[in-house]
Amino acid sequence: MDLKKYVADIPDFPQKGIIFRDVTPMLQDGEAFAESIRQITDFAKNKNIDIVVGPEARGFLYGCPTAISLNAGFAPVRKPGKLPRETVSRTYDLEYGSNEIFMHKDSIKPGQKVLLVDDLLATGGTVKAAIELVEEMGGEVAGCAFVIELLDLHGRDLLEGYDIFSILTY
Ligand code: 5GP
Repeated sequence: MDLKKYVADIPDFPQKGIIFRDVTPMLQDGEAFAESIRQITDFAKNKNIDIVVGPEARGFLYGCPTAISLNAGFAPVRKPGKLPRETVSRTYDLEYGSNEIFMHKDSIKPGQKVLLVDDLLATGGTVKAAIELVEEMGGEVAGCAFVIELLDLHGRDLLEGYDIFSILTY
């Protein structure tokens, strides 16, 4: 099944010059969505994953079904002001400005094996910051899985040393 057929390429979104890779057609198709979750699950199934970590918001869409399919838990990575209990956080640089992400401080137990899941790997900044939070809590990152990897942005280089899987590359 060619999952690229289920990604819409949107020029000049959210800014001029950017081609946004929109995964909502994949989510809308039962066969394609299931196939994407199967491929991520296959990558992770021998890693004894305890918990899946996914960044808001599209990381939830792929991370939660993956967690169910691995019989693992799920912990969200969120934007400022969303989590009600004590948090850990990281700030990371964007091309213009910066982002801050948060996780509940007790969301990962020391020694737990973690799979990071997001829809898309671009510069790797988001997932790198999430890895730092997981490791600060004592978790062990066993792998990172993406539906899409944008090769030009070299996110893999930033994540050197980690086991990285992507279903589709552009
Ligand atoms: P990074 O931190 O690797 O530079 O950016 C990845 C994050 O930005 C992911 O959470 C992803 O959802 C979002 N993102 C950046 N560009 C795109 C895009 O073209 N399509 C989608 N679906 N998400 C994007």
